[in-house]
Amino acid sequence: MVVELISVGTEILLGNIVNTNAAYLAEKCAGLGLSCYYQTVVGDNGDRLEGVLKTALSRSDIVILSGGLGPTQDDLTKETAAKVMGKELFMDAHSKDRILEYFKKRNLTITKNNWKQAMMPKGAIIIDNANGTAPGVIMEENGKSVILLPGPPNELIPMFEKDIVPYLHEKTPDVIYSQTVKICGIGESKAESMIEDLMKKQTNPTIAPYAKTGEVHLRVTAKAQDEKAAKKLCKPIVKDLKSRFGDKVYSTQEDMTLEKAVVDLLLANHLTVATTESCTGGLLAARLINVPGVSEVFKAGYVTYSNKAKKKLVGVKKSSLLKYGAVSDVVAKEMAKGAAVFTKADVTISVTGVAGPEGGTKEKPVGLVYIACNVKGNIEVKEYHFSGSREKIRQSSVASALTLLRQCVLQYMSQVTFGRK
Ligand code: ATP
Ligand code: MG
Repeated sequence: MVVELISVGTEILLGNIVNTNAAYLAEKCAGLGLSCYYQTVVGDNGDRLEGVLKTALSRSDIVILSGGLGPTQDDLTKETAAKVMGKELFMDAHSKDRILEYFKKRNLTITKNNWKQAMMPKGAIIIDNANGTAPGVIMEENGKSVILLPGPPNELIPMFEKDIVPYLHEKTPDVIYSQTVKICGIGESKAESMIEDLMKKQTNPTIAPYAKTGEVHLRVTAKAQDEKAAKKLCKPIVKDLKSRFGDKVYSTQEDMTLEKAVVDLLLANHLTVATTESCTGGLLAARLINVPGVSEVFKAGYVTYSNKAKKKLVGVKKSSLLKYGAVSDVVAKEMAKGAAVFTKADVTISVTGVAGPEGGTKEKPVGLVYIACNVKGNIEVKEYHFSGSREKIRQSSVASALTLLRQCVLQYMSQVTFGRK
């Protein structure tokens, strides 16, 4: 079943309002297993609307129109759609009563043109509007459906949920099932290049990559007669993705976050953690502490923003600060090591960098960040070059710190398991 969306309204065309109805409807239809290949915006103009609707009906099974069901002269969606579908309009007594009731309840005077909204195409399914006066309409002809919905989202959404979803569901008994493979430590373009072959031949399931700060999510979606069959279709693709990305995959669970995966890893291996942050100013600690149950593993978080705090709180050497500067691999390492000495945490992680927008130099530009991770004396430090706003650079730093922490713990645990440590 192919669905197509037409948004009616000159104000959308001119950019005066954002077409949130189309975004909402498209997402809902995809979730219902309907394919949507076209969306159109057309102004309040009968001839052009007629043309657009005829084109839509020539290539799609179901056409959903939103807007233009109001009482005024420029609201002509229903009249035009009825004409295209070859249906005459008649005064629907039930809709008339409801409109009357709506006005009475609100103590409003009804004007003549309000009755326009009670005119309905013959043989149509009429849908009561619980939040306004314009009823929704479904017309069927030659195996095609045309659905008319009011423009205001507070009327359209409840009507769609209550009456249109069950109608569409009957037309498409297929169910949709999705699973997300969540990856950290690989950029979006690299990740996409690693699955180019899969992306090219995808039909059912489909694979959709989504980039989050410091992460890539690959959403695998299958359509089948029931959930069991859809899950079965997803399974080999998810397995393939897991083997391609190896331990860069931190989860395939919907509700799992990177910070929760990190906390779970620490819990499973009975490791405690402490953080020392400069440019991220506590964001890393805050993300870890977002996870319920973190108290089992989280010991302390230092925000050592000034050089003085770096020396005083985590014992960074004055000479290192003078020689290498606060944003350096040497200082990052000392920040991580110092936290281990003072907190006795098994794992310590530090972040120091230039978040901008000012303060960058040729040698140390905005976005330069050092992150060090220490796991029981095994220390690793990495240099990063982020771009974007101060907020973006800080968020990227936190995501990379969580990723490095995870990698270092995994590496350490694999060495312990193989008895080399
Ligand atoms: P009304 O009875 O209010 O005239 P209508 O069904 O005729 O409703 P429109 O006149 O096209 O709908 O739009 C009414 C209002 O609904 C707009 O001013 C806008 O606020 C909102 N609206 C319409 N279309 C959209 C859309 N595609 N996305 C988001 N909001 C919309
Ligand atoms: Mg209107």
